[in-house]
Amino acid sequence: MIEKIRKTEEEWKEILTPEQFRVMRQHGTEAPFVCSWRKDEDGTYQCAACGLPLFRHEDKFDSGTGWPSYFEPIAPDHVEYFEDTSGGMTREEVRCARCGSHLGHVFEDAPPREPGGPPQKRYCINSIALKFVPETDEGPGDGE
Ligand SMILES: [Zn+2]
Repeated sequence: MIEKIRKTEEEWKEILTPEQFRVMRQHGTEAPFVCSWRKDEDGTYQCAACGLPLFRHEDKFDSGTGWPSYFEPIAPDHVEYFEDTSGGMTREEVRCARCGSHLGHVFEDAPPREPGGPPQKRYCINSIALKFVPETDEGPGDGE
């Protein structure tokens, strides 16, 4: 089990940028194609609010949607799912399991990972909700 972090909205405002606060704490969506870290190096994507490792570089793929897309989280219990019925659609919302920050949504429309393989989930995540940490900078047990 992931130990929860709880902070007041005022405390989050001090930690996050205004845009991060809007997306992560007020369930906003960033504009597409703003992602600043289109990196091709190995590393881990952490929650920008609390540092919990959420996604691996090897699970990232280019969905063409303008938001970073991943096949699966780094560990099943590092994210939580909620039904989101806003905007007249029913979508599955993904939040950080530790701090409850909104990350994005999960869809069932990813291409198979191998030819002929089963359809995959697509974790469509706001880039601003993630912090990229290159493999080389990560010490043992860091971020936990
Ligand atoms: Zn978090």
